[in-house]
Amino acid sequence: MWDTLWTDIHVATADPALISDQDGYGCIHHAAIGIENGRISWIGATSDLPDAPQNLAHKIHSGNGLWMTPGLVDAHTHVIYAGDRSLEFAERLNGVSYAEIARKGGGIISTVNATRTVSEDELFDVTARRVRRMIAEGTTTLEMKSGYGLTLQDELKQLRVARAIGASLPVRVHATFLGAHALPPEFKDRQDDYVSHLITDILPQAVEEKLIDSIDGFCENIAFTPDQIERLFIAAKDLKIPVRLHSEQLSNSGGTKLAARYGALSTDHLEYVVEDDVIDLAHAGTVAMLLPGAFYFIRETRMPPIDLFRKHNVPMGLATDCNPGTSPSVSLTGIMNMACTLFRMTPEETFSAVTRIGAQALRLQNITGHLATGQAADMLLWDIASPHELSYWIGGRRPVQRIFDGKLDPVI
Ligand SMILES: [Zn+2]
Repeated sequence: MWDTLWTDIHVATADPALISDQDGYGCIHHAAIGIENGRISWIGATSDLPDAPQNLAHKIHSGNGLWMTPGLVDAHTHVIYAGDRSLEFAERLNGVSYAEIARKGGGIISTVNATRTVSEDELFDVTARRVRRMIAEGTTTLEMKSGYGLTLQDELKQLRVARAIGASLPVRVHATFLGAHALPPEFKDRQDDYVSHLITDILPQAVEEKLIDSIDGFCENIAFTPDQIERLFIAAKDLKIPVRLHSEQLSNSGGTKLAARYGALSTDHLEYVVEDDVIDLAHAGTVAMLLPGAFYFIRETRMPPIDLFRKHNVPMGLATDCNPGTSPSVSLTGIMNMACTLFRMTPEETFSAVTRIGAQALRLQNITGHLATGQAADMLLWDIASPHELSYWIGGRRPVQRIFDGKLDPVI
């Protein structure tokens, strides 16, 4: 006997084995899903069930003809921070210049200062409040980056909060070390020294405490050079930790080619990549993680080259990039809509991007991100007429039921 059987549902599986040119969602109509020990034990058309439902499972739930999808995967977030930048947002729109805001201590450094000031418990509390909103929007797997501490103690504090969120809220967490996010004021004009500090002091301690699942950096003319990022990637390789990279967001500085050479799980942003970079991503099997929230919020004008990713079969992921400066978003369905309107991705592409491809970017594709036998039962029930509705609404569309790790979880 299975623990649970869901009947009277339609399923958009995101299963690569079911996705075709005719059906980009991998649909099963009039379907049923059996769950045992948190895993999917059976999935298919109701008419193919091996026995009457009451003979198959202890508990039977009817989906009342609604749509079931995999839980959503948010594979790029900076959600662990303290402070508030909404005042700065308002000031900018009231005519205060960015230079003036920076002079008064605004911008990323204000988030770094606020994050350093709070205790680990306080940081957990403000982060958990945001993560609960993400969960309510359908997120079941979440990548969380450090990068607002920029000291040994404060980077570790952020990473411990990531682990604590994963242990206490119904969400799978992948923690990413992003010490190479910005140059802290203590290292002004000493970028190479800061990179050495990351490699010799912070990274070993984070690894010792088992706090990181991947290593990230910000490769850009306003951040770190490809040479500096490569030093970090060499250290990551020695430690056998996978890498990812913020690259080609504001200019083409060569980060994407470098990341592909190191077999990065994802390269993120990518507005300024050229075809040669895209070919490298294809060969490396790296996910192109696109972040339309930041594109929208800072009113970028250069689109990532969607047609080139399609042409070379580079998997496209989407994430909120949730952060206080350039993408204050907790809603993956809102991001799906932005990807359609701003980047001209298809609804089917955006669905794969926040499910199976997001999971691939976190190396969790054999656990979550699509619905098939053996996968974790991370699922959402939606009151929608078809899966197109997920990317059609400009946010505000929330699941009506949430199943995490096989357990029916109250929608917040
Ligand atoms: Zn980012």
